[in-house]
Amino acid sequence: MARFIFLGAPGAGKGTQAKILTDLLRIPHISTGDILRASVAEKTALGLKAQAYMDRGDLVPDQLVIDLIRERLEQPDAQLGWILDGFPRNVAQAEFLDNLLSDIEQPYSYTVNFEVPDEVLVARLLGRGRKDDTESVIRHRLKVYREQTAPLIDFYRSQQKFVSINGDVLPEDVTVELKKLV
Ligand code: ADP
Repeated sequence: MARFIFLGAPGAGKGTQAKILTDLLRIPHISTGDILRASVAEKTALGLKAQAYMDRGDLVPDQLVIDLIRERLEQPDAQLGWILDGFPRNVAQAEFLDNLLSDIEQPYSYTVNFEVPDEVLVARLLGRGRKDDTESVIRHRLKVYREQTAPLIDFYRSQQKFVSINGDVLPEDVTVELKKLV
């Protein structure tokens, strides 16, 4: 059973690798960013609450993503394994996830940290051209990452089942490293 938590800055390649592994392993790719963007597009209650935070590059309030993850991990397809991409993004979310996974008896296999230098991240995100990928919003997202999400590296390192991989290589070479964990 493969259950991965992907950690890493915006642009580190988590989504790209999650899509590859999800096809290979037939387990869902659970991306809070994708779910929130779909909610914004559909103008659901969640999307309407989340939009302004996302446009600024701020984290949306914890309660919104916590509810979303709890519901998502209870779906039938998630009983076969999963890749979490974009959650958790701060210590409060990580503590919630620890409790949830123990409640639903779904221990994770590995936390995988994608390491990529900042200047590479900015170049990749500018190239991607999503609505929230303007230079000033990107810089703000990286600041939010450093302040709120990067502390999770120490949080998870101390819990074992933690792997750091070099994300500044060709996507297929990153995939080779990830396959070793399956
Ligand atoms: P990126 O590809 O830049 O890492 P994501 O697609 O994961 O970005 O997320 C886009 C935006 O969605 C974030 O900037 C944030 O506003 C919101 N978001 C996604 N996941 C979370 C989360 N776990 N907690 C709070 N906000 C989140």
